[in-house]
Amino acid sequence: MGGNVEILLTEGAIVTQDEDRRIIKNQDVFIKDGKIELIGKNLRENADLKINCRGKVIIPGLINLHTHSPMTLLRGYADDMLLENWLKEKIWPIESNLKAKDVYYGALLACIEMVKSGTTSFLDMYFFMDEVAKACKEVGIRGFLSPGILEFGTPEVKDVQDQMKMSKEFIDKWRGDELITPVLGPHSIYACSKDTLLEIKHISEEKDALINIHVSETRKEVVDSEKKFGMRPVEYLDGIGRMLKWLTTRLAT
Ligand SMILES: [Zn+2]
Repeated sequence: MGGNVEILLTEGAIVTQDEDRRIIKNQDVFIKDGKIELIGKNLRENADLKINCRGKVIIPGLINLHTHSPMTLLRGYADDMLLENWLKEKIWPIESNLKAKDVYYGALLACIEMVKSGTTSFLDMYFFMDEVAKACKEVGIRGFLSPGILEFGTPEVKDVQDQMKMSKEFIDKWRGDELITPVLGPHSIYACSKDTLLEIKHISEEKDALINIHVSETRKEVVDSEKKFGMRPVEYLDGIGRMLKWLTTRLAT
């Protein structure tokens, strides 16, 4: 809720993120213009929106550190499979049919669901990311958005050099936006070669952009990496120009 709207939360247990991680019980929070203005007892009688929080906690917005938000559309499409088979046999084939409009509606649904359950920021990787940005803006949620880079192509752009060019343009377009933070998105060490990863690292330095990548998602990925590179995925990435410094990573799907 933006603009000049006033929100009053009354008599809640406020979970702070100050140094002592204090929990302030049975107090009110008054929010104006999207910012917390006052905390205390009996702050005022009314506001545009007043919510009685007695018996509830008031927490900071949650941050979802790994999403492919438009995949809300694929919920239940394929489950209980090994990751590699799930991707190759089910997900990548159906994703190849997705259009920009589909991505927009999938992301919009995800953004609405996230906001409804208290998430105010998320780190996303997909394609047609301008559509995801559009959904974020409409819902008013913060998105750290990375167009996925995969050497065998995405439904949006086939050639990996073109994908990297598009990522640069995406960064230039959205940098400085109040809700959108553009991020680089090499999919994984099995979808990007060492040369591609190095190039992405250089773009990251040039554009001062974070990198979002899947790392060690499965036992198979670790074993394959040990066989192919003689080291585990994290060691391999760290060997590529001390890449870890730029990485935000995750360890499961
Ligand atoms: Zn993922």
